[in-house]
Amino acid sequence: MFTYIDPTIRQRLTAQGTLFQIDRDGVRIDPEMSPAHGATISILGPIPLPLQLFDTQVDVEWYACVRNTELGKIEELADDLRAENAQQSFATLASFMAVNSVLVIGDPKTWNNPLVRVHSCCMTGDVFGSGRCECGPQMRTALQRIQADEQGGLLIYMSGHEGRGIGLWAKAATYLLQDAGENTYQANRSLGLPDDSRDFSDAAVLLKFFADGKPFLLLTNNPKKVDDLGALGLGNITRVKHVTGVTDSNRGYLTAKQDWGHKLDAEDIGSE
Ligand SMILES: [Zn+2]
Repeated sequence: MFTYIDPTIRQRLTAQGTLFQIDRDGVRIDPEMSPAHGATISILGPIPLPLQLFDTQVDVEWYACVRNTELGKIEELADDLRAENAQQSFATLASFMAVNSVLVIGDPKTWNNPLVRVHSCCMTGDVFGSGRCECGPQMRTALQRIQADEQGGLLIYMSGHEGRGIGLWAKAATYLLQDAGENTYQANRSLGLPDDSRDFSDAAVLLKFFADGKPFLLLTNNPKKVDDLGALGLGNITRVKHVTGVTDSNRGYLTAKQDWGHKLDAEDIGSE
């Protein structure tokens, strides 16, 4: 049942503490406060999720997170649809809402320098297992590294970050341009799109809440990600190299990323 379809469900989940809001500083908002002042992100969870990762089962706590401005708009439209008895259109509404996920492994109370991965959604790599990029192996290996760490940590899955923020449709076009000889960044420019249009502000708010101001280790080869999160108020980040899933199919793509500024060494990429 969608919380925006039936307001009584929202009240019930709020009373249970499994639907809550955080402000832009990552501070949980008192549900008694009405209207919730400064609420930025609504979160549903924790929801136990048993993940089959390589050959082991990893138990994670899943939190579904949505920006309040987006949710508010959807709720408003849902009210209109309800008034017109047009509930069959709810599905169309819901598909426009970007829901990010946080996967927590271990007990956040015991963390002092947890492992963190902020992972950008990649339908072709994460879901289909495409070897054109290394996203799928990076996501699974990140979860494996977090699981293997004695403290654990978290993975934030940014659903709006498909194709470095340009979306799946434009990404499909860039693949066709790449097959005609352009690299991953040139293809974006040919479409009049930025090299990287990802917005990390929601990730920053979620990290403030889940890491609770503690320093953390960020699994990434991209120093810009550290800079972006730093500019959003997260100072204590140590970058940890995260190279995996390099194949003949994505070596050219990784070389383009290296030229663009990703911290990859020649031996990380290898040669055909
Ligand atoms: Zn990818």
